[in-house]
Amino acid sequence: MNQKAVDYAADSAVMQTYGRAEIGFVRGEGCWLESDSGEKYLDCASGIAVNTLGHSHPHLVAALTEQAGKLWHTSNLYRIPGQEIVAKMLASLSGLDQVFFCNSGAEATEAAVKIARRAAYEKGEPERMTILCATGAFHGRTLGMLAATDRPVFRTGFGPMPAGFDHVSFGNLNALRAALGPHVAAVMVESVQGEGGAKQVPDGYLAGVREAADEFGALVIADEVQAGIGRTGRLFSYEDTGIKPDIVALAKGLAGGFPIGAVIASKAVGAAMTPGTHGSTFGGNPLAMAAAKAVLEILGEDGFLTDVRERAAYLDTALHQLQTQFPAMIEALRGRGFLRGIRLHDSVDLPALVNRLRDDHLLTVPAADNTLRLLPPLTIHRDEIDLAIAKLVTALTAMAPRDDQ
Ligand SMILES: *Cc1c(COP(=O)(O)O)cnc(C)c1O
Repeated sequence: MNQKAVDYAADSAVMQTYGRAEIGFVRGEGCWLESDSGEKYLDCASGIAVNTLGHSHPHLVAALTEQAGKLWHTSNLYRIPGQEIVAKMLASLSGLDQVFFCNSGAEATEAAVKIARRAAYEKGEPERMTILCATGAFHGRTLGMLAATDRPVFRTGFGPMPAGFDHVSFGNLNALRAALGPHVAAVMVESVQGEGGAKQVPDGYLAGVREAADEFGALVIADEVQAGIGRTGRLFSYEDTGIKPDIVALAKGLAGGFPIGAVIASKAVGAAMTPGTHGSTFGGNPLAMAAAKAVLEILGEDGFLTDVRERAAYLDTALHQLQTQFPAMIEALRGRGFLRGIRLHDSVDLPALVNRLRDDHLLTVPAADNTLRLLPPLTIHRDEIDLAIAKLVTALTAMAPRDDQ
């Protein structure tokens, strides 16, 4: 074993905002991470849906190192050639028109809200300010997005919250219609609530949202920060429904691990954003653009997403077998593609399961609603899926009540 470079047990100067595991990773390849003590971990977390193509993907490494040797940063006071390319790619892939670049998910969702409000203002409807969000929603941690997020515990001690956000019952069209009115600028929706427990909206819900929003003159914002960029097996998670949002927020997986956020808008809405209305120092810098372009190139390769869907179906079958094997522990399976949730019965200790799996060198992510999330790189192989399932079997067996053994 190598000597650890850093002793994590010593007094840390890092702010204690996370309940961190005492592991530090120093390198990664594909779906595998190596700790500073030389141990290998199977990564079914992807840094919370970020490492779309796993670790050290050769195309990404080449794109980023090539850009690093040329130019890191200029400013949005000048044209950034990489932005022009990535914006065209995102516009053409989404069927929308204009892209604003930032550095994170919360910045993307917050910019989406600003764009929606400003579009109403420019239309002569300044009273349209409210954003309708769903119960269980997660949109980020800035003050604005804390108000949009439905996790009251995250807000404790950070008040007052910005006004203008209401929450309507998840997946309930009647509740949404009742909340719509001339004060509503937009409905912001996650088609799969990642942090909320890999919960999918019911079939037909998004089409209903689009229809109701149109009827009441509101916009539709798709928060694709977690579910977008191939995670569900489609580039955008709403694609199968045939709806087109007015605004799409992206981040996590878009640059495969390089910090990025992006908002795509229709021309009609994006036109409200004139020089000076919004900005970001780092947003869309050449390094981020090189990484995002590389990710989109791979996702756009012939057959890539078809192959993702096939391997996701393989995982789905394995998860159903797991549920059959452990009915007293697994209440339901959630999500789709490689954004999957295992909803555990309330009697199962989720943090204990996550820790046990990590001790067995499998990385997973807990979510709300006693749900274990599996978010492997989209490139995960079938034998790695088998290994992850085998580790789940071992952990669940060890934790199972008598009935499930
Ligand atoms: C993670 C997430 C965010 C916030 O992203 P950050 O990069 O952490 O700011 C927003 N919306 C959704 C759906 C997310 O999953």
